[in-house]
Amino acid sequence: MIDANKKTIFIVDDKAAIAKILALYFSRDYHTVHFDNPLPAIEALQAGNIPDLIISDIRMPQMRGDEFLHFIKKNELFSSIPVIMLSSEDSTSERIRLLSEGAEDYMVKPFNPQELKVRVQKILK
Ligand SMILES: [Mg+2]
Repeated sequence: MIDANKKTIFIVDDKAAIAKILALYFSRDYHTVHFDNPLPAIEALQAGNIPDLIISDIRMPQMRGDEFLHFIKKNELFSSIPVIMLSSEDSTSERIRLLSEGAEDYMVKPFNPQELKVRVQKILK
């Protein structure tokens, strides 16, 4: 699952189209792994597959992205993984809440994938 030559990014989003767009923009420089909800991503983490960064949607049917963020940040094995949250609404209170709960960054959909890539590069450099 982990490609030693490239940094690994988990993309957790219930919309396959988002994952496809991100994979398109990121696959040249990063190894991307898509999960359509947080539960299999948690299984992968618990199996020892630790990515360099996680990009997570917030509104997903099986488990919300903010619960997923909480799980990551409360677990000392995973808490150092940077997490970028993708929101479908531009909410200042949500942004403040998620950043204070440990999210590294927060972007509102629709976003420019190039901007997201620059933010990822800054976090991973
Ligand atoms: Mg969603």
